[in-house]
Amino acid sequence: MRKPFIAANWKMNKTIEETGAFISSFLPLVKDVRDVDILIAPPFTSLSTASQLLKNSNVQLGAQNVYFEEKGAFTGEISVSMLKSAGCACAIIGHSERRQYFKETDEIVNRKIRITRDNGLDVILCVGESLEQREQNKTFDVLDRQLSGSLLDLTLDGITIAYEPIWAIGTGKTATPEQANEAHAFIRDWLRKHKDGADSTRIQYGGSVTPDNVETLMSQPEVDGALVGGASLKPDSFAALVKGAL
Ligand code: PEP
Repeated sequence: MRKPFIAANWKMNKTIEETGAFISSFLPLVKDVRDVDILIAPPFTSLSTASQLLKNSNVQLGAQNVYFEEKGAFTGEISVSMLKSAGCACAIIGHSERRQYFKETDEIVNRKIRITRDNGLDVILCVGESLEQREQNKTFDVLDRQLSGSLLDLTLDGITIAYEPIWAIGTGKTATPEQANEAHAFIRDWLRKHKDGADSTRIQYGGSVTPDNVETLMSQPEVDGALVGGASLKPDSFAALVKGAL
């Protein structure tokens, strides 16, 4: 049995003060939730504050990105040791916005996963197709290519996969529960064929998940959680979504 895992990806939202206000309101709302793993990934500037506020709570801290080198002349980048010392337990890697706007390839994603895991942090690896690729029936080819490249020579230890169809991210268009389950089942089969530990690896769905649709999505056998953008920005909505995953 895989424990549900709900993660908030705040993207480029919230100042340090706004982060503090969110966490102070959110923690009391979920303090009794034990059967769902909860993670918040704020912007880098809020990590340290969030880490102090989340200490001894049932909510873990994550980063939205990481660089694939340990240290050095890489202006503007953040290393995994920095994330670790800021209190992160996990990094989101390969989000479609990073792939699209910052030209991250599967090879880069692979290097990022490797260094993150080598330093003891967990990873949420994002994969997913565009609308054009779905319409051309290329969803499974895209997932195969992304999984092969991103997980090349890597085990599944500490890895969660987030299936995020790009056409459903921030658009209000959710994949139907059946579409989500079909893609998750493809990913699960791929993991079974190529890696050990496929059955205990969690696969989150991401793309316009809200408190209203989380229950139906979670009722699908292959959906183990959600990676949430928009609906994670308000404490009451994100708390309702977490409870809906129970
Ligand atoms: C995301 O950015 O990972 C995401 C799923 O966003 P949203 O929930 O807003 O669609």
